[in-house]
Order: sequence, then C-alpha cells, then structure tokens
Amino acid sequence: MKRTTLLLLLPFLCSPASAGQWYRGNTHAHTEICGHADSTPDSVAKWYLDHGYNFLILSEHNHFIDPATVNLPEQRRKDFILIPGEEVTGKKHLHSTAMNIDGLVPWDSAHEEKWQIIQDHVDAIRGGSGQPILNHPNYTYAVTTEDILPVKGLHMMELYNGHNDVHNFGDGEHPSTEEMWDTLLSAGMLVYAVASDDMHILKEIAPDKSNPGRGWVVVRSDRLTPESITKAMAHGQFYASSGLFLSKCGVVDGNYVVEVDEESTQAELASSVTVRALFVPEGKDGYSIEFIGQEGKVLARFEGTSASFPIDGSQPYVRVKVTHTRTYPESGHQQFFAWGQPVFSDGRDQ
Ligand SMILES: [Zn+2]
Ligand SMILES: [Zn+2]
Repeated sequence: MKRTTLLLLLPFLCSPASAGQWYRGNTHAHTEICGHADSTPDSVAKWYLDHGYNFLILSEHNHFIDPATVNLPEQRRKDFILIPGEEVTGKKHLHSTAMNIDGLVPWDSAHEEKWQIIQDHVDAIRGGSGQPILNHPNYTYAVTTEDILPVKGLHMMELYNGHNDVHNFGDGEHPSTEEMWDTLLSAGMLVYAVASDDMHILKEIAPDKSNPGRGWVVVRSDRLTPESITKAMAHGQFYASSGLFLSKCGVVDGNYVVEVDEESTQAELASSVTVRALFVPEGKDGYSIEFIGQEGKVLARFEGTSASFPIDGSQPYVRVKVTHTRTYPESGHQQFFAWGQPVFSDGRDQ
C-alpha cells in the first residue's frame, strides 16, 4: 500500500493572536503486546512517523509501554514524539486513555456503578500525573451521559474512534457521541472532544480492519513535548478530525473563525485508503460549516471553506463542525468531519 505522506510539518497559525504551532497526533493505538493487535510497538510508532504525525500514544490495555524502549530509525525527523500512556481497561467495557503518565496506572475498581468505575480510572490517571480521555462511549453502547456527568476531573472524551466496532454515529435507539457531547456541554460539563484511531491492524489495510489514519487531533502548542501537548489538549487547544485539516480554528477578535486547509484535506482523502467515511444517502458535495450551541442547536450554517461566527455571550458554549461531502461512486455520499472545541461564555473553563 502506497500512501502519500502528508506532512503537517508546516505549522499554520490558528490566528494572529495565537502563539504556537499545530501538531498532529493520535492518542489511541495498540500493539501485539495486548494479544489482539498485529504489530510491534516499533512498527506502530514508525507508521505514524512515516505518515507525518507529530505525536503518538501507544495506549496498550493495562500495560505501560515506556517510550524509551521503543526503537525508531536514528536518521529520522525530530518533530515526532511518543507520549507515555496506557488504555486503562476496566470492567463493563469502561476504558480510558491515560495520557502522559509516569508509569502503570491501576484499572481495578471495587465499584459496580459505571460512573464510579470511570471516576476511579480518572482518579488513578490523575494520580499518575496524567490526563484522562474517556474512550469510545458507544462501544457496545456501554456508556451513557448519565454515567459521565457525575464524574469529576474528566475533561476529554472520544467523539470519534476509528475502530470498526465503535458506533460513533449511534443508531435508532442510541444517540451519537456528538449528541452525547452536546448533552454534557449543555449540562455544564467542561469536556473537549478527541478523535483517535484505536488502531490494532497494520499488516492488512482494509475497510473492515481497525487500521491507523482514521481519526486524529491537531493540537496548538508552544512546544512539542509530552507535557506541553497534554496541557494544550486539557485546555481545549485542538481540533478533532476524521479526514479534514483546518488552517484556522479559533477565536479572533470575538469571532470563532474557521478555515479549511483544502489542499491538505484533498491530499489526505485522495491518497489514503484508511480514512473512514460516514455514508449518507443524500447530501450536497462540498464543504459546510456549522456553529453549534446549547442543546446542539445549529446557530448558523455556511457553505464553503471558511466562516466566522460572533461569540457574543448569548450561548454558554459555541462549537464548530466542518463537514466535507463527496459523491461515493457506487451509491450515495461520503462524509468526513472536523470538530472544533467549544468556546465557553459562562466561565466554566476559568
Ligand atoms: Zn478501548
Ligand atoms: Zn483501544
């Protein structure tokens, strides 16, 4: 499989007022250590190095992979790091990525209530100096918003998980993770949304395999270090993507400003066989940008590759969703997304 390397080495400033560069990364990847993935930590890390990423978490189930033990080519670009992590994997399908921990985090919980198990994971991760990301709530539809809302100290969740068994978009009986996110935000929770691969399979690239390259984050940070990337994400300085790149995403002079990096997006969608689309029966080809507020209400919708929206304090939060729709040759349409983080007007992030 030949895949054009897309480099995000060229940092693009989110806004003139924003310091830092953009760094692309994946927070969720598995290795043969777990027994149900097919590649070594070295091979998995090298895939992300070779495909233009700037950081990766080898988030193994209840196993800490020390980045110092991972071998990468000596002659390699230097703007690629491993952030130490683990997928804290508890009972009842409750999993959380432990981001930037200093060693193995325990996963046991004496509790049976889901929110308490999640809370135990969050506390253990924070006790290990890390930041928690609640993973794939719609895997087996294990987690509801009622299970998340009581949890303290949780500020990131997976909105998009690239694993084939995860129902990011819900079904007739279960809400999508995006609807869940709006429920949590509308209830006053401070929670940012992550897209990740949850990759397991590297040796066979196919639509039904859990391959890399399906979901990622692009983080604005002063520096490329585990600490600075983790801190930036914990403060919502990133966007999540299932195929799109943005050249602007942030508040400038009181407006939420968004612009698609169309060249990088088209290159990614044209070159990659790993990105995974949402298939929809109807749609208009092109880009649309929606600004979304309390209860998930669409406040404004624009066609095209750039838009802005005033942050005037009338909404507790405003987030942005960018959709790219293209005709699928066989039937219907494919959609890919980028999700900008909420901007809060009620001070919950202060
Ligand atoms: Zn998991
Ligand atoms: Zn996983």
